[in-house]
Amino acid sequence: MTKRNTAAPARNPWFRLRRSRIQGTGAFAIVDIPKGTRIIEYTGEHITNAEADRRYPDDDPAERHHTFLFTLNSRIVIDAAHDGNDARFINHSCDPNCDAVIERGHIWIDAIEDIPKGAELCYDYQFEHVPEYTEQDLRLYQCRCGSANCRGTIVKVDRRRKLARTWEAAHGRRHAASRHAGHAHRRS
Ligand SMILES: [Zn+2]
Repeated sequence: MTKRNTAAPARNPWFRLRRSRIQGTGAFAIVDIPKGTRIIEYTGEHITNAEADRRYPDDDPAERHHTFLFTLNSRIVIDAAHDGNDARFINHSCDPNCDAVIERGHIWIDAIEDIPKGAELCYDYQFEHVPEYTEQDLRLYQCRCGSANCRGTIVKVDRRRKLARTWEAAHGRRHAASRHAGHAHRRS
């Protein structure tokens, strides 16, 4: 399993990747980005929940840490570790300047406000909250976005269901008690 694309896609006109204070590598605006801009598609291999389970078994926290799963719908998960693009490096924030939008089988990262050149792009991952989560689990999904309204975890703790970019959603709730631990976010 390779982590890098062999075919280099065209460089995105809006951002470049570099080290982030939030986590690992982040995406930073290289020009002023107007509100409403469709910045990049979140791409990757489309796989089933069963295949996601096979690739990222519960009992391997190190492996989970490097997954880039995004739930597209009830059947399909996008695994950006395979055929993914730079969208997978956009970090989570509790006070985001972008949002992930699903349209006709595609996931897009759109600017939801005017983003000044130099700012880090981020969106709210909204990892689905599952009732089985304990306080400890939420800490494992710790958020370090640094925003004033940081909720301390990338899990959507108010349970508002929207986009669920989550290990749980990708795998179903049946193993919820044993999974969370790592996955929280890829990056290496
Ligand atoms: Zn936060």
